Amino acid sequence: MSQFYYYDPETCEFKDIQYTNLEKLVHAFTQWSLFGIVIGGLLVIFLSLFAGTPAEIALQAENRALLEQLRANRTAIEGLDEQISRLEEADNEIYRQVLGMDRSDFEAQLQRGQGGAPIDPDLDVLQQETADLIRWMRENLDRLDRRANLQLQSFEEVKAYYKANQEKMRHIPAIRPIGSDVVSGFGMRMHPVLNFRRMHEGLDFRASIGTDIYATGDGIVTQAEFNSSYGRMIRINHGHGFETIYAHLSRYAPQIRVGRRVTRGEVIGYSGDSGLVEAPHLHYEVIRNGSAVNPIFYLFADISPEEYLQYRRISEENDSSLD
Ligand SMILES: [Zn+2]
Repeated sequence: MSQFYYYDPETCEFKDIQYTNLEKLVHAFTQWSLFGIVIGGLLVIFLSLFAGTPAEIALQAENRALLEQLRANRTAIEGLDEQISRLEEADNEIYRQVLGMDRSDFEAQLQRGQGGAPIDPDLDVLQQETADLIRWMRENLDRLDRRANLQLQSFEEVKAYYKANQEKMRHIPAIRPIGSDVVSGFGMRMHPVLNFRRMHEGLDFRASIGTDIYATGDGIVTQAEFNSSYGRMIRINHGHGFETIYAHLSRYAPQIRVGRRVTRGEVIGYSGDSGLVEAPHLHYEVIRNGSAVNPIFYLFADISPEEYLQYRRISEENDSSLD
């Protein structure tokens, strides 16, 4: 410890200051405390300048976490958007088109409802990316909400139509003619036996010989005979302009004959490979007002929108038919 002096005017000389032990201790303690405060302060200033204050560091971490969350929400919204689009597509193609209902009113409502949400001034304090994300989410959630509501209304309308037209609905082909999957679709296809491209007017379903085949709507059998290209085939007239054809059967159900009334879901025959085919399968056609139409639109009572889209993809991708 340093030695301190005081001036004694009486003796005109400097004299040692004598401290007690307690005074020495207090002095040392004060000195070290001051030293500590100064160093600590310098350290805080240094860290604040180069790394931010502890509060700032915590806020930055929070900001990063929030931004991550916003990005994840954006991905989730995009997923929902896709799902609603699929529902809209299925609604339009497999329900409204077939039932002869117009979706354009709904589309018009959707268009009218569109337009950017007002930009809120409180977003100005945010970073560009954060503000953009929040704005994007507001607009898209708003739009999704409107579309989901419209879709709900649309399904309600379809349901009401279906209920109000039950007699007609029982006759329209509306289920799969066989409990298996589509392998080839409607349109220009390579014929596997004839070896050239020609119009394939139906859907081919995978089927081993002897699989049950169902009438897809109520109606009357108008043909049950052998045909050189269709093999053993059945034609049903459903009324309301609809007919269906089931081809390449191995045999007919015992009750099947021309003039026989059949109901939807009734087994009318068994799949096979009769006629001009490459492999056993069921060839199924839907005829509306005299022309073949794509049967994929007439499976709606039996398949989900997801299955519909999957069948559509398979039937479009496969370039050759089985007959
Ligand atoms: Zn076919």
